[in-house]
Amino acid sequence: MCPSIDEPATNGAATNGANGSHDGFTKFEVPEKKTVKQSNPYQPVGDFLSNVSNFKIIESTLREGEQFANAYFDTETKIKIAKALDEFGVDCIELTSPCASEQSRLDCEAICKLGLKAKILTHVRCHMDDVKVAVETGVDGVDVVIGTSSFLREHSHGKDMTYIKNTAIEVIQFVKSKGLEIRFSSEDSFRSDLVDLLSLYAAVDKVGVNRVGIADTVGCASPRQVYDLVRTLRGVVSCDIECHFHNDSGCAIANAYCALEAGATHIDTSVIGIGERNGITPLGGLMARMIVADRDYVKSKYQLTKLKEIEDLVADSVEINIPFNNYITGFSAFTHKAGIHAKAILANPSTYEIIDPSDFGMTRYVHFASRLTGWNAIKSRVEQLGLKMTDAQVKLCTAKIKALADVRPIAIDDADSIIRTFHGNIQKGTDAPLLPNMTAEEKKLFEQKQKELAGVGEKRSLEETVAEEAPDAKKSKNAEVPA
Ligand SMILES: [Zn+2]
Repeated sequence: MCPSIDEPATNGAATNGANGSHDGFTKFEVPEKKTVKQSNPYQPVGDFLSNVSNFKIIESTLREGEQFANAYFDTETKIKIAKALDEFGVDCIELTSPCASEQSRLDCEAICKLGLKAKILTHVRCHMDDVKVAVETGVDGVDVVIGTSSFLREHSHGKDMTYIKNTAIEVIQFVKSKGLEIRFSSEDSFRSDLVDLLSLYAAVDKVGVNRVGIADTVGCASPRQVYDLVRTLRGVVSCDIECHFHNDSGCAIANAYCALEAGATHIDTSVIGIGERNGITPLGGLMARMIVADRDYVKSKYQLTKLKEIEDLVADSVEINIPFNNYITGFSAFTHKAGIHAKAILANPSTYEIIDPSDFGMTRYVHFASRLTGWNAIKSRVEQLGLKMTDAQVKLCTAKIKALADVRPIAIDDADSIIRTFHGNIQKGTDAPLLPNMTAEEKKLFEQKQKELAGVGEKRSLEETVAEEAPDAKKSKNAEVPA
């Protein structure tokens, strides 16, 4: 259902959107000189701690994502996803524990043999039995995790903090002795005792762990809590800090951003955010957030135009649709509808867009076949259809389209027919019906609506004159409703 990135510019045919299903929308190319400006008024306030312009991604679709309710990845699919993520440019790819099953171990070995640029990591329990298997698979690093919250200590593994610390040190020293990277993470970090947590991280930092991990396993943390915890931890350890955020309360992207501001170095993501329950920080959503903060860094590191391809690959594998409001690739992510928005977008897209769709190989759409359309959108469509009309004629034609849209939902074909017939009538001096397929009742309603709109048009032109003379004058109340 998403607008396709490959379609040729529409020129009359109803080909907007994938399979021509994006009815009523027209692809809109902005003239070169009017593209989004490079300067960014929303640049983050940098300080010596912030890694907003220097972060790394640990892509966990093949670990966390495999825990998504609908996920079942066979070896071939895992390899396809790993290669696509590598091409995208993620820094690390995290795989399911080789101890989970014999096939998981074989898949882990197969992916290690692909020779990808990304580091291959596997995620195991902080236990010697597991890490001994992990280090034999050919991975570049091992991510170990253990529950530190009172819930997990009492109801899961039943171990105390001294035991956890001693095991962690033993495991870290073993993995390092094999020449591999090691990350130590607590589980459910935000519901763990802060003093316990900090002393544990200080101990593992002292024995040379490469990264410590903070995990909001239950998705309870808020951005401010994340900032406070990561900033405190940044003062305690000198190693890298990785963060893992679940999205149960909708903060996974915001939390990732705050963690980077507070000095975290690595963020865990998965494609479309798939994972346990409603998942974790989505790769595309993180890209959307980070490109607003530092476009140069994000563009230089990641092959953003491959995002849609990867999302489609994963969505197909787990049999879900890309949500309509998905960051960047959602059906309506770059579609402008209200007349006021469309007018401004046609003049300069930055007015209502903080992200340039072309950075991701995506297309901007203007919805012109609706009652909210404005004459600027219709003018643009008239030009796309290769027709010539004066502004006054376009305004009259717009009134007809709006009137019809009040009578019934109209498709792009309907709007195009009206434009073409309207143009033909002007050229030939004829009075052909604008839409031949209307019922008698629709015709009657159409006439009535046209009359009403003609009245609104007169009123509006008067108000526009007033507004031009006094820019601060109260905005006119009209059909072009801003979102
Ligand atoms: Zn998780």
